[in-house]
Amino acid sequence: MFVGHYSVAFAVKSERNRIPLWVLFVAVQFLDYIWATLVLLGIEKLRVIKGFTAGSMLDSYYHPYSHSLIAAFLWSTVAAIGYKPFCSWLGYPYRKSAALIVGVAVFSHWILDLVVHPRDLPIYDNTLKVGFGLWNYRDPEFALEIALLVGGIMLYVARNVLSATRKTAVIAFGVALVVVQIGDTFVPRTPLSDKATAMGVWIFYTLFVVIAFFLENARGRRKIDSP
Ligand SMILES: [Zn+2]
Repeated sequence: MFVGHYSVAFAVKSERNRIPLWVLFVAVQFLDYIWATLVLLGIEKLRVIKGFTAGSMLDSYYHPYSHSLIAAFLWSTVAAIGYKPFCSWLGYPYRKSAALIVGVAVFSHWILDLVVHPRDLPIYDNTLKVGFGLWNYRDPEFALEIALLVGGIMLYVARNVLSATRKTAVIAFGVALVVVQIGDTFVPRTPLSDKATAMGVWIFYTLFVVIAFFLENARGRRKIDSP
């Protein structure tokens, strides 16, 4: 799963929990950030093979520390526990149940990966691998990514007070994410090395985090939204 993960970030953000969208963008891809880092360090293993599945070239054959069920649960707990201190560190407001929401956002990554991955997600360590394999069916997988994203953005727009400008910016970003997904799913390309792929993950995901930050924080000449 790629842009579909962001549906959760959009969907859970509300005026009540006030969790910054950029934080949720990190949360829903937290496991992949760990994965990309561990691949760069040579600890987790990845092969990039053209046509490995219809919708993805990633043969992630060893990723117990980022993508086992137990690891996903532990990282989600770490994120949930760390969110309150993180807020006081950055001076963000902390609302009740926000820690739980951040933890759930991190864990959602594993659940969505479970739907699309071939049987390469271990329950613990590197054993008992699961995965429903929707990546074997290119078009349905693509449709799911887009449906999730659109649903998430619709919830975000409905649950948050947004100026017309900001609403347009959110929708434009959604369209850009769809274009990115079209490129990822349908445009044939030569496989990159494992390390280059992991580097690309860091770069693209962080770019999206930065955009999510500006979506909520950019100010026009007129102060249009309440902070
Ligand atoms: Zn993943």
